Amino acid sequence: MDSFSAHEPDIADLLAARPALAMDAQAGLLFEGVPLNAIADSIGTPSWVYGAGSVRGQISRLKTALDAAPVKAHIHYAVKANDHLAILALMRGQNLGADVVSQGEMRRALRAGIAARDIVFSGVGKSAEEISAALGAGIGQINAESAEELAMIAAIAQGQNATAHVVLRMNPDIDAGTHAKITTGVAGNKFGIPAADIPALYAHAARLPGLHVAGLALHIGSQILSPAPYRAAYEIAADMIAALRAQGQIVETLDLGGGLGIGYGDDPGLSVAAYAHMIAQTVGALDVALMIEPGRFLIGPAGLLLASVNLVKHAGGKRFIVLDAAMNDLLRPALYDSYHGILPLSAVDMRGQASLADIVGPVCESSDMFAADRLMPELALQSRVAILDAGAYGAVMSSTYNARPLAAAVLIDAGQYKVIRPRQRIEALWADEQIPDFST
Ligand SMILES: *Cc1c(COP(=O)(O)O)cnc(C)c1O
Repeated sequence: MDSFSAHEPDIADLLAARPALAMDAQAGLLFEGVPLNAIADSIGTPSWVYGAGSVRGQISRLKTALDAAPVKAHIHYAVKANDHLAILALMRGQNLGADVVSQGEMRRALRAGIAARDIVFSGVGKSAEEISAALGAGIGQINAESAEELAMIAAIAQGQNATAHVVLRMNPDIDAGTHAKITTGVAGNKFGIPAADIPALYAHAARLPGLHVAGLALHIGSQILSPAPYRAAYEIAADMIAALRAQGQIVETLDLGGGLGIGYGDDPGLSVAAYAHMIAQTVGALDVALMIEPGRFLIGPAGLLLASVNLVKHAGGKRFIVLDAAMNDLLRPALYDSYHGILPLSAVDMRGQASLADIVGPVCESSDMFAADRLMPELALQSRVAILDAGAYGAVMSSTYNARPLAAAVLIDAGQYKVIRPRQRIEALWADEQIPDFST
């Protein structure tokens, strides 16, 4: 399942690539200076731990690269990567807007204090209720993905005496070279409007009452590690804008999407400097307001999942380390075969002789596995590990499968930590349920 064939990073490689992590001989693994054992002692495991310093660090890396290119682009954080109110408030504190894909995400962003005008509503199947709520809240921009949806937005806007600011999401038919389940910009998947249909639809939408058509959007996939697919897509967008303007259309905005990839091993991930430079080259001279919508890049490296060892079992010649965290907490390995680095919390554990182990959860599915054939020292029962780079598409994809309550979450900032979501109580699992008379 692990995506490393030539060189799988060992514990030292993983630590060296992550300055926010350090190993203290006594206190064990530190994240942003805080001993993770202290957090596990006080709130238990499994628990999500996020570092505000790491989030701000990623934002600053991106802003620095954009400034240097130079590119003027407004950053909208893709809420679906991690929608905790505390994380959204952190993004707002850095003057980021939000990219949302549901009414729930919109309400969360508003609740965290992000201004409606700084929110972009995307998504392939917005309901009439969602469109109406977005217009009612005064959302800054709606990214429309089809002719059918444009008609719906226009009708609802007219009914509410509102003007919907829309951009058309174009499908540039570019393979982002990423995992098939996170590719969104090739012809034949459900996202966006085929480029060939854009000119006629743009002209049509510009005439519809209730709409202000402001420009184009695209988003070609996630965990993209090279500027090349972006370059191809942005060149298509630039050509399209030229063609639209030649037809007499007004194009004010270009939303460049998200997808910026991070290093899950000891690789550096996408070079944001190269990415920003490529933006300047391809669309920098278009005289449009640019936006980008990263999710994973901003929060992925800033979060980890703390877990304890429930059991070590030997069977069929293999060692299985069974954690108290499972696929219901962090689904990515089961869903995408994704690699996550895993580090012991104790310095003593970390120095032990490493041998291969499968690191698994207790859920009744064979896909409930965090790592197959991973080099890992001996780990005693109740010893702890950190599953790295779990800040994005981690907690948001959690479920309560096997009646396992949602894990607690904490945020570290400046050497202190606070619980941002307590562990779900077991009773809360059924608190809203009813047993009808006729079933007893
Ligand atoms: C998911 C998504 C993003 C964010 O993707 P990341 O890979 O997390 O950066 C941005 N825009 C849209 C439209 C999305 O669907």
